[in-house]
Amino acid sequence: MSDKVILVVLDGLSYQVAHHCMGYLNGLIEADRATLYKMECELPSMSRPLYECILTGIAPVNSGIVNNEIVRLSHFDSIFSLAQKAGKTTAAAAYYWVSELYNRSPFVATRDRFTNDKQLAIQHGCFYQADHYPDDHLFIDAEYLRTEHSPDFLLIHPMNIDDTGHKFGLDSSQYRNSARKADIILANYLPSWIEQGYQIIITSDHGMNNDHSHGGTLPEERSVPLFVIGERFSHQAACRVEQTALCGTICALLGVDYVDKNICNELLAGDK
Ligand SMILES: [Zn+2]
Repeated sequence: MSDKVILVVLDGLSYQVAHHCMGYLNGLIEADRATLYKMECELPSMSRPLYECILTGIAPVNSGIVNNEIVRLSHFDSIFSLAQKAGKTTAAAAYYWVSELYNRSPFVATRDRFTNDKQLAIQHGCFYQADHYPDDHLFIDAEYLRTEHSPDFLLIHPMNIDDTGHKFGLDSSQYRNSARKADIILANYLPSWIEQGYQIIITSDHGMNNDHSHGGTLPEERSVPLFVIGERFSHQAACRVEQTALCGTICALLGVDYVDKNICNELLAGDK
């Protein structure tokens, strides 16, 4: 058992598709090694506002990151900044907007694509800019960061599911197959992460609709999966998790002071 946390944010993955298409993750559930919750994302159901929500616990209407065009640093403490201040090691293999929110803004690829700086909130980073940057490459970037730097908190954030949803829509074989592909990639890494005792959360920022977009309140845009794996979770069936509680809950798992952040106690095993 470890205090280390891996957070996987599969961009644009609707709950229903995660539930139906991700056979490996659902196999872990049947083997009592994972639990899946349905979570409602905050509004608007858009990427940059919800990266900020997941990583700081602040809903878009309060964070000011209200659409994808707002390019500036976050005004709030994040899992990264709280962990870094507590002397923990942080890392992210993620879309460049994450670097813009917590490290440096705007993103300068030649400076920021590969980041190694202990003074930054995200100390070790591999950041990409193309929405079609292959998920399997991104997971290799993440595994490099994990094995090279042993981060206490690692964010892994692939974009292909969202990208495919924008091209083909929610109800398309292409969108569903991109989720199946992510499930296959996860199956290559999860056994060793589980073996090494990581606490693992796999979720999404928002879902997808049939208009090839997202942003509003439709169930398919708002309902996202929350898979949890690890001994520090309660795995209790009835548990309502707010997206704004992920930040504080992950800080609690890391043993980092989460100050004024929301936390979901029901998600955690009894000792916390
Ligand atoms: Zn999108």
